[in-house]
Amino acid sequence: MNLKEETLALLKKHGLAAKKSLGQNFLISETALEQIVGAAELTKDDFVLEIGPGLGTLTKELNKHTENVLSLELDTKLKKILEPYNVNYIDALKFDPSELPKNFKLVANIPYYITSPILNHFIKDQFIQNSATPKTVVLLMQREVAEKIVNEKRDSVLSLNIKVFGKPEIIAHVKADCFYPAPKVDSSILKINIFKKPKVSIENLNKFFKTIKIGFSSPRKKLSNNLKPFKIDQTMTEIDLNRRAETLSIDEWVELSKLI
Ligand code: SAH
Repeated sequence: MNLKEETLALLKKHGLAAKKSLGQNFLISETALEQIVGAAELTKDDFVLEIGPGLGTLTKELNKHTENVLSLELDTKLKKILEPYNVNYIDALKFDPSELPKNFKLVANIPYYITSPILNHFIKDQFIQNSATPKTVVLLMQREVAEKIVNEKRDSVLSLNIKVFGKPEIIAHVKADCFYPAPKVDSSILKINIFKKPKVSIENLNKFFKTIKIGFSSPRKKLSNNLKPFKIDQTMTEIDLNRRAETLSIDEWVELSKLI
């Protein structure tokens, strides 16, 4: 049986159907599985956190490499199928990573409807709280989102939320028919190598993100416009405020954040 047949058989056996509301699109591509696990470079000493194990396809592969895998799943109907694995039935966004060993690896085919909240919860928020942070993140996500994150010409709040903490790269693109049921969009495997230290010092992170948030409030407008609420004007900085937010480097955002 191939992965698609196994997936269909498993759903049938347990009288289940994929739940759209939970972003259930199960991976049925051996190639994509190998690419995800390969990118994670797992050793037996690694601690792996998985979000959304689903029917356990990726979970099984992860467990072949290390005994320390914890999977977080919201759908308790999958309990029977996931019995062989170490699963917490909880909303991943409510899980507190401070319980994890430092330098864990986050490896998952996540539910796409909460991609940004997952990235923020497990990377940015952990750094801000000085809690356990991952050392490597390998996630399957919507291609458009992955491409927005790695875009070198044009930044966004999302890309900066990642680039402050690590280096993102696309490992491979994954076509919609590699999932059952096939989603409407194509996907990509995104790997983020997390830096030992963020590019912005921990004390300045809150101010930095506050400045970015307001700086991008109307992305098509000039910075001078967006920064008015902070009473920042051209006399206070060398950075040309006629520019748009998407063109600023991290260092330039740091400079602006010192003015607020
Ligand atoms: N990793 C599996 C399934 C991916 S589908 C595979 O590759 O085949 C996404 C999974 O995330 C589903 O199992 C869904 O039930 C689960 N999920 C959805 N929302 C969640 C949440 N808030 N917290 C944890 N898991 C969630």
